[in-house]
Amino acid sequence: MGRLSAAKPVLTTPAAAPTAEDSPLPMATEPAVPFIEIETLRAREFLPAAKEALGSLLSEQAQGKLIRPMFNWAGRNSLFPLHWGLACCAIEFAAAFGARWDAERFGVVPRSSPRQCDLLIVNGTVTWKVAHKLITLYEQMPEPKWVIAMGNCATGGGPFRTAYSVVPGVDKLVPVDVYIAGCPPRPEALLDGILRLEQLIKERKE
Ligand code: SF4
Repeated sequence: MGRLSAAKPVLTTPAAAPTAEDSPLPMATEPAVPFIEIETLRAREFLPAAKEALGSLLSEQAQGKLIRPMFNWAGRNSLFPLHWGLACCAIEFAAAFGARWDAERFGVVPRSSPRQCDLLIVNGTVTWKVAHKLITLYEQMPEPKWVIAMGNCATGGGPFRTAYSVVPGVDKLVPVDVYIAGCPPRPEALLDGILRLEQLIKERKE
């Protein structure tokens, strides 16, 4: 019987990892310029440039040529009159927003809260009893705001001018921008007054 000789174990060692010196294309271990420095450089250039651009945009010249006309255009094409009525002229006011005259095609939309309105159309006889309510409504409207005196009563007291109870013209209470004559003025006259107010807003400088 032949003898079986035990095979000698072979000990192997793991291959050594390649070093940076062995690699033909050595990898960069850190960026040439640290990231934080790039960001700082960008910020240094960006902030003065942005400041200069904003300054020129808000300069007096730009306000007159760009911002003011833009605000005027937006304001005159979206007038929101207060939805209220004082006397018989209010019937004509309501008719102007009906299907026949359709004042809304000019962007004029009556709103029920003075806080959302920029136009007060005084459409009737103003008595001293209601005067403080009218002033309160006017003061609740945000700036910029405008007033149209619609009809003879609002303009100067109308047929009741000498009455003890009637305010002889709403300009005694609030500043008026446009006056519309008539007793009552027709819806066309109200539309004409609104278009004249739009022209005033278009020429507004401040
Ligand atoms: S102006 Fe004539 S229609 Fe208008 S509220 Fe006065 S009385 Fe009435």
